[in-house]
Amino acid sequence: MDGVTVGAAALTGVRVLVVEDDLPLGEQLVRGLNRAGCRVEFVQSAGDALRRVDADVVLLDLGLPDGDGVDLCRRLRERTTAPILVVTARDTERERVTALDAGADDYLAKPFGFAELLARMRAVLRRVDMGGNRGVVRYGPLTVDLDAHRVDLHGETVPLTAKEFDILACLAAEPGRMVTREEIFERAWDVNWYGPTKVLDVHIAAIRRKVGDPSLIETVYGRGFRLRRP
Ligand code: CA
Repeated sequence: MDGVTVGAAALTGVRVLVVEDDLPLGEQLVRGLNRAGCRVEFVQSAGDALRRVDADVVLLDLGLPDGDGVDLCRRLRERTTAPILVVTARDTERERVTALDAGADDYLAKPFGFAELLARMRAVLRRVDMGGNRGVVRYGPLTVDLDAHRVDLHGETVPLTAKEFDILACLAAEPGRMVTREEIFERAWDVNWYGPTKVLDVHIAAIRRKVGDPSLIETVYGRGFRLRRP
């Protein structure tokens, strides 16, 4: 499993604004993005989109009931530096060029695969300066800096490997909530994994050893893990 994809927790804690008037599709996107560790806000109209531009990345459907999508893209661009990923059924070169000229960062034609959407989101986020937007999670004596990929405990930096950091970042993104083994695999390895998951226990054991406090990460036997409440 190691080496399949490194740094896949790149979307953990990212704030996503989903602008999509198709309710089932929007809800499907929200569920998938939540599983990937994103914090999602879902709106179904151009008017609501313009009121909620406080996001790290915007997924924008061009075909909305209350306004021209390209015009909305232009107006969003005036209000935010967040990458805008246009998602639409109108897939002609002319449409793509128009959307990109209106300030979109990338373009995805419906129907699309969810893995491709996540990959494109990671790509547009890599291209912008995150500027500390994802911030720092403080939890009792633990500080997890999602941008700098650094973990401090009682002010001392804990020397974690990239994979160990990704796993701890999954838990820290929702402190106190039990994160299932499957969710950790999806986020930290970027795959669905239905085989033996003992490798995860090995990494958890290493994290516990390195932070010097085995009770920091609680085991929910057979299901998952959570950060202990401070
Ligand atoms: Ca639509």
